[in-house]
Amino acid sequence: MNVVKIAIIGAGFSGLGAAIKLRQQGIDDFVILDRGDTFGGTWRDNTYPGAACDVPSHLYSYSFAPNPTWSRSFSQQPEIHRYINKVADQHGVGSKTRWNTEVTGIVWDEADGRWIITTSAGEYRAATVIAGVGPLCEPKLPDIKGIGDFAGEIFHSAQWNSDYALEGKRVAVIGTGASAIQIIPELAKKVGRLDVYQRTAPWVLPRADRPYSSTENWAFKNIPGFQKAARAGIYASHELVSFGLTHAPNVLAPAKVIGRQNIARGISDPKLRAKVTPNWKVGCKRILLSNTYYPALGQANVDLITDPIREVTSTGIITADGVARDVDAIVVATGFHVTDSPTFEHIIGKDGRSMAQVWEATGMNAYKGTTVHGFPNLFLMVGPSTGLGHTSMVYMIESQLNYLVDYLTLQRKYDIARVEVRSDVQHDYNVGIQKNLESSVWETGGCASWYKDAFGNITTLWPGFTFNYRRITRKFDLAAYDTSSAAAIGARNSTQTVTSQPATETVTS
Ligand code: NAP
Repeated sequence: MNVVKIAIIGAGFSGLGAAIKLRQQGIDDFVILDRGDTFGGTWRDNTYPGAACDVPSHLYSYSFAPNPTWSRSFSQQPEIHRYINKVADQHGVGSKTRWNTEVTGIVWDEADGRWIITTSAGEYRAATVIAGVGPLCEPKLPDIKGIGDFAGEIFHSAQWNSDYALEGKRVAVIGTGASAIQIIPELAKKVGRLDVYQRTAPWVLPRADRPYSSTENWAFKNIPGFQKAARAGIYASHELVSFGLTHAPNVLAPAKVIGRQNIARGISDPKLRAKVTPNWKVGCKRILLSNTYYPALGQANVDLITDPIREVTSTGIITADGVARDVDAIVVATGFHVTDSPTFEHIIGKDGRSMAQVWEATGMNAYKGTTVHGFPNLFLMVGPSTGLGHTSMVYMIESQLNYLVDYLTLQRKYDIARVEVRSDVQHDYNVGIQKNLESSVWETGGCASWYKDAFGNITTLWPGFTFNYRRITRKFDLAAYDTSSAAAIGARNSTQTVTSQPATETVTS
């Protein structure tokens, strides 16, 4: 058994960021556990052709590790993966990581005041766990009749089989979300026939992607403040969108015009144009960016199929109209388990219930997207109500890291051994979140999306400006927590509360 002060689960943007911050705090007694073998998380796993980020590179990076040499305005997956690993090298945290270590259980031991972490490579005990597992890490396979019987090649977009040569093959792609619209133009170039199964047409806007010139990269590197200014400009322009998404969906009407123009530019056939035109408000589902998706759909070797899938057979797909289309391979680009992630079943809190069981009753919720009543000394990264549809998750991650670092400072100051958010504070916070979402496009936009949970609540997204999230995570608000000192834990039965005052913080957007 390995005993550490802090265990970080996941080596993506969150886990790596946490490790770097711990180092900067002078904390070395920690370990990072990851099932893969390099840093990167989702940017390591999603290797499908065309994988790239929809947030400009200078914003989709750590503020403390700017990269003046991004090759494009929107980075592609290999470059982001390289960036993350370079940052890890620069901060020397590779040696803290246990690779190929799948975490199978995280159980709170009240008597010991520590988490017991079971992994494929043995057991760890840690006083504090930072869960940087990411919301988009558990592929969701569609529940389609017969899908298990398909005898050809089938894989999820996040588990790309690069050993399988798709050249010249008959291929079906199920889904037209963020992953699919990047995959489809790449496959259209090389497969013999491509059947695209669309359940709901997405809004796809033009992508202002271009290579950076060597002069620009020189300027990013050498002109003081230039890269920071570029980042600030990108940040500000994206925040404007958040106002429309959260409070005034009609403000986004020009985006609909731009989306229609993108369709008209990319597709000449009126029937195909009609099929790809969404009937819900822009922003209700994630706004997608592509200049190549619509032209790909118009290619002679590509068919867009909008009849619902009835079943999958051993040789292909049959739609509700009875048409059978045989294929050699099926690419399943149907998203991820987000509000129902299997990860939640593996985290067992103080009363023996898993996070999945707790959230079964209440819906997925946390305090400031980070702490959950019943799960002491656990910090979720990119937890409930912190997701974004309009700007960089790295900004939210850094806000959470501020919160964590401030906690660690207070922990030292007050010798805190156990910290648990108060249930009333967590409840009130989430009432505020849901209230802020009432007028949002995600609620009123007339679409179904993974942003909503089984109760119909939007438990994934941060409502409003991200600088408000930065503001509420600047300081760790001890008053929102029940805390116990190390001495009290030692005495076991006589819990000594350091502070437990009413919390006053509310969410404003
Ligand atoms: P997604 O956005 O959830 O899209 C899933 C697609 O599969 C949708 O078109 C969905 O249709 C369809 N689908 C699901 N179940 C189906 C079924 N049973 N039958 C037919 N179609 C089905 O998943 P994703 O594309 O992997 O993206 C997930 C998230 O990852 C994104 O929202 C984004 O946050 C992130 N991402 C970002 C980027 C980027 O930055 N460029 C790229 C990839 C992913 P419906 O719309 O009808 O549900």
